Amino acid sequence: MPANFKAELLACFGQPVDENPTGRMQEAAFRELGLNWRYLTVEVPPANLRDAILGARAFGLRGFNLTIPHKVAVLKYLDEIAPDAAAIGAVNTVRREGSRFIGENTDGKGFLHGVRTDAGLDPRGRRAVVLGAGGAARAISTELALAGAAEVLVVNRSPERGAAMAADLASKTGCPIRYEPWRGVYRVTSAADLLVNATSIGLFPDAAAMPPVDLAGAHPGMLVADVVFNPPETPFLAAARKLGLPTLDGLSMLVYQGAIGFRLWTGREAPVAVMKAALAQALGVA
Ligand code: NDP
Repeated sequence: MPANFKAELLACFGQPVDENPTGRMQEAAFRELGLNWRYLTVEVPPANLRDAILGARAFGLRGFNLTIPHKVAVLKYLDEIAPDAAAIGAVNTVRREGSRFIGENTDGKGFLHGVRTDAGLDPRGRRAVVLGAGGAARAISTELALAGAAEVLVVNRSPERGAAMAADLASKTGCPIRYEPWRGVYRVTSAADLLVNATSIGLFPDAAAMPPVDLAGAHPGMLVADVVFNPPETPFLAAARKLGLPTLDGLSMLVYQGAIGFRLWTGREAPVAVMKAALAQALGVA
């Protein structure tokens, strides 16, 4: 039989993308399973997104990821949007079915998978506090609501954004999602089972920054999670650990959202340990 040199193609479209480590973990997964697939990291300015997607169709890409600033803008170029991605209002993963591009959002699902698998917490019936009202907070709040959380409290600096997100997601999911302004230090109460920093506070190069949160009132089992993955060891998580609270870092969300994408594209179970190791190496934390 002649050799088949033609690879199946995937891509990530964003700007900037230079430091996006997703390609490293997807390529490591292809190697592990012996798949002749390639993942290209492509810089696409906003004005070129439509052309990039036409190119993806022309090249027969099996799918692609979207990162900053394309997660919302991409919606109008797709053939179908999964219900949870529609509620979130953003797509980070596109898969191809025949000639149709279908938009998914794996960010919140990846987060929840980490909460269940790595931290052993089932969000059903639990009360969550989500710090932030940007894309990550929106995806996480939606999936928590769809997973049966008893309540999601959104705490955000900009009141308009936080209140609008809480009202929108409450009406879309039927879950009690409330907003509370973030003035000064936010004091956690013993009612919360899960606290998530879904802001960009602590992200490189401001790695010493810490969300203004007082954890003293937390109950001892409250899970403290951070979406920031660069660096994965944030001062916020370090403070929680110092108080003896269980923690979950942003690498968990990043690897599981990628693993869900891998399964959607290839139909194979993702080699999660290999992907995690590749990510840690790419980020210099192996
Ligand atoms: P957005 O820009 O959409 O939202 C940023 C949020 O952070 C806003 O709610 C903003 O509040 C808040 N914020 C930023 N700075 C401050 C500050 N100094 N004080 C208070 N609030 C602040 O970003 P994303 O939601 O897309 O990303 C947020 C983080 O999530 C990033 O670090 C990103 O890397 C990470 N992320 C991680 C993923 C993973 O897999 N681990 C996946 C996706 C994202 P305001 O509304 O008031 O401006």
